[in-house]
Amino acid sequence: MGDTIFSKIIRKEIPADIVFESENVLAFKDINPQAPVHILIIPKIEIPRISDLDMKEHGYLITEIFDIANKLAKDFQISEDGFRLVFNCGSNGGQEVEHLHLHLLGGRQMKWPPG
Ligand code: 5GP
Repeated sequence: MGDTIFSKIIRKEIPADIVFESENVLAFKDINPQAPVHILIIPKIEIPRISDLDMKEHGYLITEIFDIANKLAKDFQISEDGFRLVFNCGSNGGQEVEHLHLHLLGGRQMKWPPG
């Protein structure tokens, strides 16, 4: 498994603005925010891409990640107006960091289609 910048954040070797942590999941503010609220929610185990998921094995993590996204959307007061959740996958999907992460974006009007 590759060691990414997110592994270093999980191990607290580099700083991040952590907004939630549990045994299995970490959430921190994106260093280059694309919206007033831009949080990354990641599993602590290294799963490179959404296409690497085995739901029988990892389903509990995805459940927890979506629960945390909803909790953080409420905490950051973007739940009522709405928000966007994004998993980029691979190069055509625009994924830069090969450690599974869910983007929680909110606080502004989103556009469709995405770029
Ligand atoms: P991707 O393009 O892979 O879906 O998203 C990776 C995200 O990680 C980008 O939005 C980028 O700004 C963010 N990112 C990359 N390096 C760091 C870092 O060192 N710290 C934090 N907080 N975010 C990072």
